[in-house]
Amino acid sequence: MRPKIDLDKCIGCGNCEEVCPSVFHLNEQLGKAEVMDPEGCEFAGCCEAAAENCPQEAISLEED
Ligand code: SF4
Repeated sequence: MRPKIDLDKCIGCGNCEEVCPSVFHLNEQLGKAEVMDPEGCEFAGCCEAAAENCPQEAISLEED
């Protein structure tokens, strides 16, 4: 499963990094989240939680 962030929706709240720091990182200069490790969802096991906790519904999870 690969996470994608819709940057038009992302407001840079940082929830995704808080919930799933091994996969998501908040780029404070851009004010947008980034996917640091697109392969990491399987190991981290927190991508669904990150998507659920995104207030903008900006995170989608695509099946490999
Ligand atoms: S939780 Fe959603 S809105 Fe907040 S930084 Fe992450 S992708 Fe952006």
